[in-house]
Amino acid sequence: MKKSIVWQILIAFILAVIVGLIFGERASVVQPLGDLFLRLIQFIIIPLILSTIIVGVTSAGNVKVLGRLGGKTIGYYLFTTLIAITFGLTAGFLFSPGSGLDVALNGDTVDPAETEGFISTLLNIVPTNPFAALTSGAILQVIFFAIFVGIGIIVAGEKADPVQRFFEGFAEVMYKITGMIMVLVPFGVFGLLAPVVGEYGASVLMPLIKVIVAMAVACLVHIILTYSFTVKTLGKMNPLKFFKGIIPAASVAFTTCSSAGTLPVTMKNTQENLGVSKSTSSFVLPLGATINMDGTAIYQGIAVMFVAQYFGIELTFAQILTVVLIATLASIGTAGVPGAGLVMLTMVLTAINLPLEGIALVAGIDRILDMMRTSVNVVGDASASVVVDASEEKDDIASAS
Ligand code: ASP
Repeated sequence: MKKSIVWQILIAFILAVIVGLIFGERASVVQPLGDLFLRLIQFIIIPLILSTIIVGVTSAGNVKVLGRLGGKTIGYYLFTTLIAITFGLTAGFLFSPGSGLDVALNGDTVDPAETEGFISTLLNIVPTNPFAALTSGAILQVIFFAIFVGIGIIVAGEKADPVQRFFEGFAEVMYKITGMIMVLVPFGVFGLLAPVVGEYGASVLMPLIKVIVAMAVACLVHIILTYSFTVKTLGKMNPLKFFKGIIPAASVAFTTCSSAGTLPVTMKNTQENLGVSKSTSSFVLPLGATINMDGTAIYQGIAVMFVAQYFGIELTFAQILTVVLIATLASIGTAGVPGAGLVMLTMVLTAINLPLEGIALVAGIDRILDMMRTSVNVVGDASASVVVDASEEKDDIASAS
């Protein structure tokens, strides 16, 4: 069954490319199939995040272990994001996609007002009404609420047992629903990909082909070097097993452009194919889908270099350092939904005074770049779950003996 789903996804990919190329924009008739799949995975996200984070926190057992788990997870996320942004800047430098280019600005610009200030972004994580956060789908607020409910359950002890068991059962139900939806992954991939291939004929892609190639190379280098290294040395897992196990989630990320939307599949893959414990994956993955965006960091690096080259602006060393810092924050603040990284790019460009018109340059191909960055985002989250799980096992053994 596991093998066959990978094959089915591969066939769906190939069929989607063929149909897209043959039918061009008319391939959009299959879009409803993709939309149906998207809605199906979206509808479990909020209850899944709520219940799994509560279970993840309570299974830590005490606040000390929770702090250890949280520290490792966030440390790993920051470490890989910094490497990612470095690869992005390097690829932007080596490929120089913006030099000697003359593409018209297509006017698809983004309103910079859409990104909030740093302080208000932080304040906004605290919901004034957690139920409003649940109904409006404010994921960071839901995570905040869930972490506190989890801590409350730990502190309350025995009296809160029924609440804990309720959420454990509820999370189990969400996993089962995910399993049912997984059967539809190949159809979803086909329905989402064929219209994209149809819409972006070679004519749209060619002028910016260097940006796309730079992005693809940087993403591959990051996946192959960074994740192979961390998964093998810190996670004690064969990288090939890791990559094979995460293929379904990576393909769903590639086609949906949403790491939050892919979360149910990422959880299922890491638990079933990679053997990550439920307690680790239910803490590390929902958090990662919201704050860990290595692909988005790579993209910010390339986009900054591209815009600077296009406008003939030489970046100083101080500016590059600012980009590293702001792009890390921007990738943390990026929501796991399609196109969010493009909006956050305004924050990075503004920080080093690059013309915001630059956004219009990459907006035309953002979907293609989004596919790549979201896949990296999801694979990065999965690598964290493997690494943190291995280290937790070690710590558990150490504290038991
Ligand atoms: N679409 C990306 C994601 O969901 C975020 C981004 O636009 O960079 O991970």
